[in-house]
Amino acid sequence: MEQELTRGTVDPRYTWDLTRIFENDEAWERAFENAKKQADSLAAMAGTMKDGKQAVLAALKLENELEQALGCIYTYAMMKQHEDTTVGRYQAMLGRAGTLVSEAMARAAFLTPELLALEEGVLENYIADPDFADFDVSLSKTLRLKPHTLCAEGETLLAMASEVCSVSENVYDMLTDADMDLGTTRGEDGKKAKLTDARLHSFLISPDRAVRKAAYTRVMNGYGRLGNAIAALYAGQVKADIFSAKARKYKNCRESYLYQDDVDESVYDSLIDAVHGGIDTLAEYLRIKKEQTGLANMHMYDMYLGVDTGFDIQMDIDEAFETFLEAVKPLGADYAADASRALSERWIDVYETKNKRSGAYSTSVYSTAPYVLLNHKQTYDGLSTLCHEMGHAMHSYYSNKTQPAAKADYTIFVAEVASTLNEILLSEHLLRKYKDNRAARIMLIGNLLEHFRTTVFRQTMFAEFEHKAHLMAEAGESLTKDSLCEMYYDLNKLYYGKAAKVDKEVACEWMRIPHFYSSFYVYKYATGFCAAVALARNVLSGDPDKVAAYRRFLTLGGSMTPIEELKAAGVDMSTPQPVCEALDYFAELVMEYRQLLSEGACAQ
Ligand SMILES: [Zn+2]
Repeated sequence: MEQELTRGTVDPRYTWDLTRIFENDEAWERAFENAKKQADSLAAMAGTMKDGKQAVLAALKLENELEQALGCIYTYAMMKQHEDTTVGRYQAMLGRAGTLVSEAMARAAFLTPELLALEEGVLENYIADPDFADFDVSLSKTLRLKPHTLCAEGETLLAMASEVCSVSENVYDMLTDADMDLGTTRGEDGKKAKLTDARLHSFLISPDRAVRKAAYTRVMNGYGRLGNAIAALYAGQVKADIFSAKARKYKNCRESYLYQDDVDESVYDSLIDAVHGGIDTLAEYLRIKKEQTGLANMHMYDMYLGVDTGFDIQMDIDEAFETFLEAVKPLGADYAADASRALSERWIDVYETKNKRSGAYSTSVYSTAPYVLLNHKQTYDGLSTLCHEMGHAMHSYYSNKTQPAAKADYTIFVAEVASTLNEILLSEHLLRKYKDNRAARIMLIGNLLEHFRTTVFRQTMFAEFEHKAHLMAEAGESLTKDSLCEMYYDLNKLYYGKAAKVDKEVACEWMRIPHFYSSFYVYKYATGFCAAVALARNVLSGDPDKVAAYRRFLTLGGSMTPIEELKAAGVDMSTPQPVCEALDYFAELVMEYRQLLSEGACAQ
């Protein structure tokens, strides 16, 4: 058993080195004061954008420097706070950093409207001018938004309305995080245990069906009791989307969201169409699960049940890191060599320590190598998380190294590609390593299949739900508990009904998905995953051109639109092909899973 460590007792080699950003807190304070002055200087440039090229260039450069400085100030305070979330000094620094960022943003807010107010053709000339090379992408984005930007008065009104428009989300969070009480349920030991939404998953993986069913039913009914209120809140969210889309002259809500990423609505539709084509394979997978777990019927509360082979991977961080480097070898020797610096140069904060932030993430500032926060466990999950976060870190590393600061940040649409691809490389590496170990292969393939089910199928079903809800509201139909529940139930029947008993309780499940308050967002999980699968297959083919194309993608940052970047990497998301390819891989894995499981009883 690992016991809880305190920060002072951890070998410093396994902590991150934040002195690369600031030598100490005093240096942070100096940077803080300096950024305030920079924000003042920038605000003083308001009204000068009409004065010509030099004035515009000076403002863009200063804004960019300020953004970098704020990135360092905020990231340093955040990471310090995450080391021990109870330290008042860093809570205060993080709070001050947040305020500084919003103040600075407010002071830079004159830029976009002033640039859009320039005479026809001026902005176009700047974009083509080599002196603006660092800013061509951001200026092009600004120009694209021109048809959807209102006059100064209109923009002020929209800004004032934005707080009102976020009431639904705020109330939903309060209702479900603070006010809702799901009571208790019975655990495997027969004792009563407190039930929360976050704990549901731990009950759903219990081998005891009564435990799964009780927790599931209680959570769904708990939401259902608030169903009229939650439906009204969601209707409010959709109405705010309609208001904003109409005010900004978009065809519809979905276009207004996808436009930000320069993604065509056809990408969304073809994702759904292609995933529908994989529903039979999903059913086959669920039937295998049902047989293997000895269930007569597969209910919605049985979905998360895994096949326990008793196999897990136990690696300390050094072994896990070596395995990661082995797994990413197909990306080229230099990738592995660059990545190997992460541990020796202390990019990673490895261990769970007292009051440290939970979970894992990667973050970076432009001027230094990236950082990774882990709470490393000696399990397959721990190893896989390391590979995932290092995928993000290396994407940032190459983008920051290659692109100017103004173009280095990549969009959410492509953000999960590099991390997921690394996870797939790890799975494939381990499947080769354990080619004669049946229990290991069942565990590895089972994990991949669950990843597919929860990312590609489940997220696409969510995407379909929110699209349908917006279409209904746009057509003037009202969104009520009954209409939303019926629609959600029908979608579950479509996705799972071929192999599972679609219990009536699932109709309320949409009420527990907070992502629906970030509209048209979840589809990016599914497209990102499919792109990663298609690209991993390219990389594993060993074709040097395909590897080089993917490696180039890692250097692109935000220098092109996400669809163009992925095209350069080797997948065309404007066609259904990458999704179909990913589903072919899913089908291959399902076949192999069936084969493995039919070879004999599991060693339990
Ligand atoms: Zn990630």
